[in-house]
Amino acid sequence: MFAQPGKVGDLGSAPFSITLDPITIIMNNGAKKIVLVGLSNAVARVASQLEPGRDHLLSLAFHSVAGESSEKDSSVLPALALRADNYRTILEHFLEKEYTFVSSGDIWSGLPRGKRYAHVTFDDGYYNNVDILSLLEEYDIPAEIFVTTSNIRKNQKYWWDVVYVQMRRVGKNDSEIADMIANLKRLSYQKIEEYLSQNFGKNAFVPVSDQDRPLTPSELRSLAKERLISIGNHTRDHMLLAGCSAQVVEEQITTAQEEIKEMTGKMPVIFAYPNGSYSDTAIQVLDQLGFELGFSSDLRVNHLSRDVEGKNRLALGRFSFFSTFDLLTQCANFRLASISPIVLAKRAQRAFARSY
Ligand SMILES: [Zn+2]
Repeated sequence: MFAQPGKVGDLGSAPFSITLDPITIIMNNGAKKIVLVGLSNAVARVASQLEPGRDHLLSLAFHSVAGESSEKDSSVLPALALRADNYRTILEHFLEKEYTFVSSGDIWSGLPRGKRYAHVTFDDGYYNNVDILSLLEEYDIPAEIFVTTSNIRKNQKYWWDVVYVQMRRVGKNDSEIADMIANLKRLSYQKIEEYLSQNFGKNAFVPVSDQDRPLTPSELRSLAKERLISIGNHTRDHMLLAGCSAQVVEEQITTAQEEIKEMTGKMPVIFAYPNGSYSDTAIQVLDQLGFELGFSSDLRVNHLSRDVEGKNRLALGRFSFFSTFDLLTQCANFRLASISPIVLAKRAQRAFARSY
């Protein structure tokens, strides 16, 4: 969110505000700033060639699958929509770098040591996620789809896409749209809906195509039967949970659980925090409700012992991809984040010395 500089939310704010260079990412890892201020871009580039360690899990967050056309789809926030060939580039990159793709079930069962793991997730429940199934099948890559149930039940366009479409219609630019989204995120979902309905009319929430619509309940049921797909909970109303009482958190999560169970026949055991917004209270509620894994949008690599099997299993780090930045640079940066900042700085210094 904009209120937390450098932190990537899972909606619209980050694409416009985040600087996806290694230094930003490292500092988000809780790094010692002092070690890093001297790193020039050249050093950062050299450092990005460094080989990351093993025994870690990189969880990757995606949202939307854009159509094949080179023109940006005008009905969804473009930064969150990657084309199928973009997904191929990313997945092939991690395979090439010897990452093993795993499902949440694999993670929960315990991952053998000595390897690097990657994990594919999609947030929100866009229908267009079905367009990625053949690619996942081709490489036998599992994926989790975290759904917001109220959009699915009501066939309602996601509110950040409403903002994008309506603001573009009146000639606003990307930065103005980003500001509007950031401001609205401070409100409750009821207030957001009220505000947008008042300003743009109720019809603004009606999807216009397969690009901007959520899955239907029956499509969700079919998707849940796919061998490579697991369905996860993303709250009922895409509620940002930090700052919510335990009662509100529980209501948002349990209602979504019941609705997903009703639509798919299965009760999820995985959760993704809307906008990556979590709190100790939210973690406690997830724990009490029996959730196995929870995913934030913190730019963190998850170490197997410390995080995945340790205290962070309900607030694991996750990296979001944005179509507005070079994809391979994002891949390299995310891999780089697996190296501790101190080790990285030393290795980068050595590499830098060698390169000049
Ligand atoms: Zn979301």
